[in-house]
Amino acid sequence: MPPDKGGSRALLRALRAVMAGADDGAGDGAGGGANGGQQRMDQVVRLVANNMVAEVCSIYLKRDERTLELCATEGLRPESVHSARLRVGQGLVGRIAERAEPLVTEDAPSTPGFRYLPETGEEIYHSFVGVPIQRLGEVMGVLVVQNRTRRHYTEDEVEALEIVAMVISEMTEAGAFLGSDGLAAGPGRRVGPVVFHGTSACDGVAEGVVHLHEPRLVVFDPIADDVASERRRLAEAMEALKGDVDRLVEGNGLGSAGEHREIFEAYRMFAYDKGWRRRLDEAIDSGLAAEVAVEKVQSDARLRMERVADPYLRERLHDLDDLANRLLRHLLGSSNAADLPRNAVLVARNIGPGELMDHAGKISAVVLEEGAQTSHAAIVARALALPTVVQAERITRDANSGDRIVVDGDIGRVDLRPEGGILDAFREKVALAEQAQEVYRTLREKPATTKDGVAIALKMNAGVLADLPSIDASGAEGVGLFRTELQFLIRRNLPGREAQAAVYSRVLDAAGGREVVFRTLDIGSDKVLPYLRREAEPNPALGWRAIRVGLDRPKLFRMQVQSLIRGAKGRAFDLMFPMIAEADEFREARGLVEGEVARLAALGHPRPAELKIGVMLETPSLAYASDPLFEEADFVSVGGNDLMQFFFAADRENERVRRRYDLMNFSFLRFLRHVVERCGEAGTPLSFCGEAAGKPLDALVLAAIGFRELSMRPAAIGPVKRALLGADLGDVRAAMERADAAGATSARSGLNAWAKEAGLPV
Ligand code: PEP
Ligand code: MG
Repeated sequence: MPPDKGGSRALLRALRAVMAGADDGAGDGAGGGANGGQQRMDQVVRLVANNMVAEVCSIYLKRDERTLELCATEGLRPESVHSARLRVGQGLVGRIAERAEPLVTEDAPSTPGFRYLPETGEEIYHSFVGVPIQRLGEVMGVLVVQNRTRRHYTEDEVEALEIVAMVISEMTEAGAFLGSDGLAAGPGRRVGPVVFHGTSACDGVAEGVVHLHEPRLVVFDPIADDVASERRRLAEAMEALKGDVDRLVEGNGLGSAGEHREIFEAYRMFAYDKGWRRRLDEAIDSGLAAEVAVEKVQSDARLRMERVADPYLRERLHDLDDLANRLLRHLLGSSNAADLPRNAVLVARNIGPGELMDHAGKISAVVLEEGAQTSHAAIVARALALPTVVQAERITRDANSGDRIVVDGDIGRVDLRPEGGILDAFREKVALAEQAQEVYRTLREKPATTKDGVAIALKMNAGVLADLPSIDASGAEGVGLFRTELQFLIRRNLPGREAQAAVYSRVLDAAGGREVVFRTLDIGSDKVLPYLRREAEPNPALGWRAIRVGLDRPKLFRMQVQSLIRGAKGRAFDLMFPMIAEADEFREARGLVEGEVARLAALGHPRPAELKIGVMLETPSLAYASDPLFEEADFVSVGGNDLMQFFFAADRENERVRRRYDLMNFSFLRFLRHVVERCGEAGTPLSFCGEAAGKPLDALVLAAIGFRELSMRPAAIGPVKRALLGADLGDVRAAMERADAAGATSARSGLNAWAKEAGLPV
């Protein structure tokens, strides 16, 4: 192949003619009839072989995830087409598909890993160059060129072959080869029901239609004749993108705030990155349409991204990916925030918390291919009470926008294009859930008092403004945990004092006099702020996080406290600090708060009518602090999610261990009883605000061992209240004692049996 760009463009033009069917001897036009697709693919390999002066050119495509099939060849035995197969990872072709990297050798048979396919007659060919056929990071197949003699393929030739592979992937996606056998990687695949077993990130169920966050772009003409005009289109789209990004940055008040100079403007940096622009221009110069050029560069970036272990860097690369999507939308002239149907279910590979917030109120569920229970998007989805399933592998490849989809967030199952029977069963479940909701509504005004007369205060956890209507709707007695960091996580930039104060003020407005506990910034570990530079840590869950960041960065901490005091405008509120491990941390943090109250009062800001300052007990060490700590703290709130991870030494983010240990494990219950006793002795109010508080049976156990206040997701208040109203805590304790006496590790199975017998809905 001629190494210059002009030559590669000539080949691309010839490919376009094939695609349009101009050379199509079968005369079945551009649509690709029964054999049209195969003929078209045969023409492609012939064309490439001629251009590269090669004896062999072959296309292997994936029949399924693990198998590659020879789909067209010029030079190998024709009878091996659609019969020669190899596994991904096997032989040189399999290795290219596995690693998504080109492979070049002058002597294939002596290259480690070479595996000879006897049916093809390829043993006589020595030199070999193969490149992956891939689209948006997904390997669809391999394009190979072979020569008898030992010849050297230049870098330019390999690059040209990659461009051809790019075009082949676009042609496949556009259906140009449809009708040819063995095409696993084509649009024809996306029909019929598919079930995904993912992980639940927020329970609840929804039925709706797919809205692909990154709409699958089908480029019918991946080749551009007029390089100058493609460059112009790219330049215009780039300008529009930069405008978006500038607005994003300025809209958050970063531009003027001198003190935030050190803040990482990742988005802006990428949008103005010259390397990115250069790679895009180069791809256009080689003859690709602007959209395909963006996809090619994005594909390369995604592959790099998959190899990066550092979660912070991955997050940055995700930003770049997001920018590429925005750029594509500009090129296509479409906006992703298009009018969504009311029952849209957002389906994405992954999504940032800010992007998800953009969809608040417009979607009914979320399904992600990646993500984790604890990822930011999942945190936001829970805050928005959107049924969410993560780890639904490959769903973005199987789903089409507009497909019917049902999401069962309770069990992490997703049915795409479900059959009638599945749909009926699902609808029955939804109807039952609605009936239960009706019951919960009737309980809304009722206090949660057990049969033996113990009143339990049920409060709600919140973190975004969208939570606020739930304060009334759920019947919560207040907000037991307001995760302030969510406001920071869903933005691209550090929110300023005014923005923060406005949020806190609205929370107190919505609470209408009910108690609200704000938790100071709990960042670090899984909650990474994109704009706060931080070092990679070997064990982030045990690292620089929560109050440790607050105390080491007092400026950030004080700014938040000032915002709270300003937002409160004289109203009472409670404040607590996350992950206090020893008494002095509490004292230091409280000292900073008191200092700010005094300072602002001196400046004329009203003091809060009452300001209770408490600790979150999330590390076992705090349960053994000396007496004064319990007396000094105005209240103690047990953060069960973190406490359990530290108690059992089991990472809450690690799928392999996070469900391994149980709240009802008697060791843990003994520990919690100790905390109840210590607070009881000091007369310090105690609450529990981890996820377990929202599970009816767990809530009963917490109440039985002495917790009188539980804070949970708003949707959990109804079910927990119903369980408490129907239970006698004496009976719960008796069931626990029986299980303990019988030597059980956990009280759970004994309690389950008891609840079943008692007919208690848990
Ligand atoms: C907890 O750890 O239990 C808690 C309530 O805080 P978070 O889940 O936000 O860490
Ligand atoms: Mg916590």
